[in-house]
Order: sequence, then structure tokens, then C-alpha cells
Amino acid sequence: MKRHTIEQLLGKNKYLVDDEHAHIVINKQICNRCADKPCTTACPAGLYTIKEGELSFDYAGCLECGTCRVVCPNKGAIEWNFPRGGFGIHFRYG
Ligand code: SF4
Repeated sequence: MKRHTIEQLLGKNKYLVDDEHAHIVINKQICNRCADKPCTTACPAGLYTIKEGELSFDYAGCLECGTCRVVCPNKGAIEWNFPRGGFGIHFRYG
């Protein structure tokens, strides 16, 4: 059985990104004060990154797993909702 990399597996998914309504919104004022930023290591899609010393996030590519919502230690830092109907990830296997 052929092994695939994480990037190859994520590349099989199909996303319909809702450009008019982000389903996850972060509060950068709170996030930039957070020392540990567990979202940067916990998000399986790697959507939380540090750029020029600030937390950067892009909801396109979100797997809707909810991990960031669970690991975030700061109340009010992440406003998390599922995407509107028809938008978001469509998982493909194989
Ligand atoms: Fe990443 Fe999951 Fe949060 Fe989406 S829901 S941003 S995939 S941790």
C-alpha cells in the first residue's frame, strides 16, 4: 500500500470557500498577547502561522475539525462556526 504525505492527502479534498463570510474569525489583539499559541502546532491543516511576529490565519483550507477552538486558552480569541450550507470542505478518500 502506497503511503501518502499529509500534503498529498489534504490535496485530495475539495473546498468551496465562502469568500463573503469567514466561518472562523480570530481576534488578533488577544492572539498576539498569547504566549504559547497552541493553534500554530495543533491545526492539522497548518492554517495558523507566525508572519513577521504576528499570528496569521486563513480559513480557506479548514478541515472543520474544531481543534483550534478546543486548544485555544483565551476566551474570545476565536469565533468559530461551521461554514454556511454548501460551503466548506468536501472530503475525498483515495
Ligand atoms: Fe485548523 Fe481544525 Fe481549526 Fe480548521 S477547525 S482552522 S483545520 S484546527
